[in-house]
Amino acid sequence: MILEVFPSGPAETNAYLIGCPQTLRAVVIDVPFESTEQILKRARELSLVIECILLTHSHWDHTAEVCLLKDALHIPVYVHQEDAGNLERPGSDRLPLFFPIKGVVPDGFLSDGQELMVGKLRIQVIHTPGHTPGGVCFYFPDEKALISGDTLFRGTIGNLSFPTARPALMWASLKRLAALPPDTKVYPGHGGPTTIHHEKWISQAQERFN
Ligand SMILES: [Zn+2]
Ligand SMILES: [Zn+2]
Repeated sequence: MILEVFPSGPAETNAYLIGCPQTLRAVVIDVPFESTEQILKRARELSLVIECILLTHSHWDHTAEVCLLKDALHIPVYVHQEDAGNLERPGSDRLPLFFPIKGVVPDGFLSDGQELMVGKLRIQVIHTPGHTPGGVCFYFPDEKALISGDTLFRGTIGNLSFPTARPALMWASLKRLAALPPDTKVYPGHGGPTTIHHEKWISQAQERFN
């Protein structure tokens, strides 16, 4: 698969442009501040047709330019229902916003076990509540790749102290990720990639972080 990453905005949040090399169909996962122009430019260079926007969760640093990209391409936006409220009304999760962010009404909801196709790329939705109630990861089973949002980073996990966090649910979410094939490449919402093998400690994350 084609995978391009754009660390953008004040939190260096990763936007991902992921495309099917055979059909040149693509998706964008998360749309941080100042990412849209870069994404559109790269998509043009690679002749990719972006079909939709998928969101790992609704924190402002991942959604700041959803409205901009959606309006530029007239494409649908999908998020888990439990994070939809904060996408529609940014800041309703009680995280401070450092600049105004336009709300977006999602076109549909992501649910656990749902399978999406982008060209010939298969994407499975894994609901991973913890960092937020509606956090999801996107697993590409044929590529053994995972977009992990703010659930799992290289060497650590997402913040569990925010007002809408569900710390008690995080441990089961991480255990599910730990059960993926060890050679799965993990692309987080911040920082560089890792693998499930490298993060195999997450099956015992509760002991480490509690
Ligand atoms: Zn977050
Ligand atoms: Zn983040």
